[in-house]
Amino acid sequence: MKLSLVVPCYNEEEVIYEFYKEVRKVFENKIEDYEFVFVNDGSRDKTADILKAIYKVADNVNVVNFSRNFGKEAAMYAGLQQTCGEYTCVIDADLQQRPEVVLEMAEILDNDENIDCVAAYQEARNEGKALTFFKDSFYKLMDKITEIELYKGASDFRLMRRPMVEAVLSMTEYHRFSKGIFSFVGFNTKYIPYEAQQRAAGESKWSFSKLFIYAIEGIVGFTTAPLKVASFAGLGLMLIAFLYMVIALIVGAVTYNITSAIAIITLILFMSGVNLLALGIIGEYLARTYMQGKNRPVFIAKEILTYEEKESE
Ligand code: UDP
Ligand code: MG
Repeated sequence: MKLSLVVPCYNEEEVIYEFYKEVRKVFENKIEDYEFVFVNDGSRDKTADILKAIYKVADNVNVVNFSRNFGKEAAMYAGLQQTCGEYTCVIDADLQQRPEVVLEMAEILDNDENIDCVAAYQEARNEGKALTFFKDSFYKLMDKITEIELYKGASDFRLMRRPMVEAVLSMTEYHRFSKGIFSFVGFNTKYIPYEAQQRAAGESKWSFSKLFIYAIEGIVGFTTAPLKVASFAGLGLMLIAFLYMVIALIVGAVTYNITSAIAIITLILFMSGVNLLALGIIGEYLARTYMQGKNRPVFIAKEILTYEEKESE
């Protein structure tokens, strides 16, 4: 098998068939030996039915049906597990990422055996200014406080050789942040620019709050730096409090009058705030240790359809 396409799908009834047709059209006479791994991430629309219909007529389609919505990260993980291609690509179902780019990536891997992965990044984002600013700041912050390198504008859209796929699968953590995982496993990655298209149909599944939670996932998943921030802030505040006390004592001694009730209240509020912040940060890590300790599966598939099984029937 030359190439596997992992396609996470959540409520994509409007585009999924179009996506399938488009890939077939683009790949025709270019790549013969390829397979689809569609992961239906607990869609509430007709996605599952459409995928089953495609599965029935095609001879290179696998479908993993989740028992509920586990999120794109879990869907990618499940999809990668099913692949057997020499090259494996993670691609969105909405045709924002063109199949032509996959061919471009494959050609790069064909021609240079030193490259293990080709990742596409967006040069210009067709998004709102606020969102772009938020994303850029996130990348800068991640770059500063973690050891992993995130390439600006790069998404999960990438083509990997088998050893890298195996490496990604060997990271079995429950809270998955693939951009970090791709970087963590290393391997030689080449970045090529691509232009994200408008969604062919349907709407984006990512709200600002979902993205914000995802960003926290990235930070907490790959660095313990925030824990240190709490300690340093605590230390700094203790120093300030000590200075404040000395000044208050001197002023009090000179004027025989300490009217610092307001200052004390402010200080108490401030310090409680810092305490809570530090506790909250510790809580984030604790929660993850707790969840990982449970050793829960990243996803639960209620059904896995493979074309191999279909052939043997
Ligand atoms: N997706 C998924 N599970 C989710 C959310 C999204 O499998 O819980 C899939 C979705 O079907 C699509 C891809 O992840 O194929 C990217 O999602 P979307 O297009 O909504 O994100 P955007 O392109 O706006 O970043
Ligand atoms: Mg999209």
